[in-house]
Amino acid sequence: MNIKLHSYYADLGKNFSASAKPERIENPQILMWNQSLATELGLNLTPTEQAQYFSGKKLFAGSKPVAMAYSGHQFGHFNPHLGDGRAHLLGEIRNSDGQIQELHLKGSGATPFSRNGDGKCAIKPAVREFIMSEAMFALGVPTTRTLAVVATGEPLYRQQETTGAIVTRVATSHLRVGTFEYFAARGMYEELEQLVNLTTSRHYPEIDINSPNKYLELYSQVIGKTVQLIVQWMRVGFIHGVMNTDNTLLSGETIDYGPCAMLGVYHPSAVYSSIDKNGRYAFGNQPNIAHWNLARLAECFIPLIDKDEKTAIDTIMPVLKSYADKYETAFNHMMANKLGFNKSSNATVKLSNDLLSLMQQNKLDYTQTFHSLSSLNEQMIPDVLNQWRDDWKSELKENSQSHEEITKIMQRNNPLVIPRNHHVETVLKDVEENQSTEKVNEFLSVLRSPYEMTTKTHKYQDTAPEYDFSYQTFCGT
Ligand code: AMP
Ligand code: MG
Repeated sequence: MNIKLHSYYADLGKNFSASAKPERIENPQILMWNQSLATELGLNLTPTEQAQYFSGKKLFAGSKPVAMAYSGHQFGHFNPHLGDGRAHLLGEIRNSDGQIQELHLKGSGATPFSRNGDGKCAIKPAVREFIMSEAMFALGVPTTRTLAVVATGEPLYRQQETTGAIVTRVATSHLRVGTFEYFAARGMYEELEQLVNLTTSRHYPEIDINSPNKYLELYSQVIGKTVQLIVQWMRVGFIHGVMNTDNTLLSGETIDYGPCAMLGVYHPSAVYSSIDKNGRYAFGNQPNIAHWNLARLAECFIPLIDKDEKTAIDTIMPVLKSYADKYETAFNHMMANKLGFNKSSNATVKLSNDLLSLMQQNKLDYTQTFHSLSSLNEQMIPDVLNQWRDDWKSELKENSQSHEEITKIMQRNNPLVIPRNHHVETVLKDVEENQSTEKVNEFLSVLRSPYEMTTKTHKYQDTAPEYDFSYQTFCGT
């Protein structure tokens, strides 16, 4: 078929990325294929073609594969030398809406940014990225997507021996806070300006790139998008696990499903990543960390805003500071929705705070508790919430919404099913040990309708508090 990729990012030149070819795989096999995404992208390929193009064995016309340059703050420490160490940007394609989408292989071999890494990705984390990103998409959370997982059939050594895979990530861009940091740290202000223009025209086209105010406007838009993203994570109980600035996109999409996990029993300090010893990226700390990452982005904008550093800081600080209020407003609104109200008020804020405290004290499951409330079925609601439930019901009565409206708003905001950690691990084990995708595909079919009760939904709603208690995730893609 006649597919031609653009090479917009590659054509920015060698300051932005290094030309790099995916490593040749002898016998790639397609393991997972996202047909609805492929259709959106106009990719009508046979399984053999899928495996060849999305392992990098064959290249689409126009493709100039590159490894992108970026820096990043990892767990608070600046690392100027990161970049795609195991990934290749193949190029850009337009989807059926005309939106540019980048096709990015991960696990496709070493690049000039690999340092000591092998450039590879193991099969379990590759399939994990497929499951988690599809689940997040269906939940309505802004996210990068996964088009394909190709098995390389080649052995790989991680915690134990496994086999390799290549994930194809589809994203509106890979413009990270760390990309800006890369140029800011090197005093490369012309390139920074180019990045500002690229980000603006790709993601925020309503901003005039000839306006002297564009930096502040862009920054303010990124703050807005980030607020929306984090609020959505908090709504569904998603714990990213590695919110470094190189894993933070200016588009406001979720990226990097390495050590992520889902919240079971509600606790703000829930953390699953084996390397996050201090809980920097704990569930309840995510809004603060996003703010911290946005402060790092503000620092990159300072030299562009004004030659005088103090003037620049005075200009951008109020925008950075606006994050806290914007977040609080958006969070309160989201929680009000979860409780069936169409807007927040002092009363809904109190109800939501009280509920979260009760959930924490009584070790209640986050998703199940909200689901029990959405059912408006007294029998399903845990007894420890009786007093709270009466307060909630009387507040709902005060409000003039109809019963139907309340149910609708709650059912839209409280998923029936999320990719629970124990189910994710069970299906991954099956893929790795038996090379079978039967279980993972059944799981995905349920995760793709998280607000609808399907015949199989029930099977994936069970909680495993003990399992979650000792659950650990790894970065080892
Ligand atoms: P991540 O933890 O995925 O955000 O990756 C952080 C950095 O480490 C990025 O620059 C990656 O490209 C690099 N990296 C991670 N795993 C590998 C690997 N197996 N080989 C080469 N580079 C890697
Ligand atoms: Mg990353």
